Amino acid sequence: MRKMQFSVLASGSKGNCTYVEKDGRGFLIDAGLSGKKITERLAKIGRSMDQVEGILVTHEHTDHIQGVGVLSRKHHVPIYANEKTWEAMRPSIGKIPSDYEYRLEPEQHLTLASIDIESFNVSHDAVNPMFFSMYSNERKLAIMTDTGYVSDRMKGFIRGADAFIFESNHDVGMLQMGSYPWSLKRRILSDVGHVSNEDAAVAMSEVVEEKETSIYLAHLSRDNNMKELARLSVAQTLEACGIRVGEYVRLEDTDPEEPTRLTTV
Ligand SMILES: [Zn+2]
Ligand SMILES: [Zn+2]
Repeated sequence: MRKMQFSVLASGSKGNCTYVEKDGRGFLIDAGLSGKKITERLAKIGRSMDQVEGILVTHEHTDHIQGVGVLSRKHHVPIYANEKTWEAMRPSIGKIPSDYEYRLEPEQHLTLASIDIESFNVSHDAVNPMFFSMYSNERKLAIMTDTGYVSDRMKGFIRGADAFIFESNHDVGMLQMGSYPWSLKRRILSDVGHVSNEDAAVAMSEVVEEKETSIYLAHLSRDNNMKELARLSVAQTLEACGIRVGEYVRLEDTDPEEPTRLTTV
């Protein structure tokens, strides 16, 4: 039996979309770019919308839903979101036929493309934001971005994954010194904003187990972070917590413009 694979097609505040598959069938987590761009990114990794069996929506922010309606209508793909998120995003995604409207509440399970998906809440300024852990052949993939902090409950859902797509949004110093208005800085730093490089690493150090693990640093701020800085500060914090990066933990980048290579979990 083939293994689960994924590619982060886009990551950052300009748009988020991740493709996950098994045996040639897959689903998208968020579709926060135009339908056209998502189709192009899929083509870059040798995949197409014909293989997509569903779109899971994490929350109603534009950088997560921009292409949801278009792709669903054009390719007849069902959309999965919780009730509150449906209400919040409905005005933005256009008319969706009722038989493509599916509910997935936090802490529920769903099987799509032979992959078991478990949802859980995060802390973010959206109506009912949630992210996912996915299981196949005793392997686990966890995705969590758009959260102001990482609670013990969230850690419980993602613990021990073989691959993580994990928010490493900003460098606190860059954010504080930067040009954002104070209200926006306060929002980002709040419990319902985004996690910093250091906070991400501290949380990771508590959920990584001693086995081969890939960590994809995701949702990097364009203005308040840099790939090199994120990697360095996550690596330093992980090492300070006793986790030797390069030994069994591998740090990987994501990009707003380029899909990551298809990775086997
Ligand atoms: Zn976002
Ligand atoms: Zn968001």
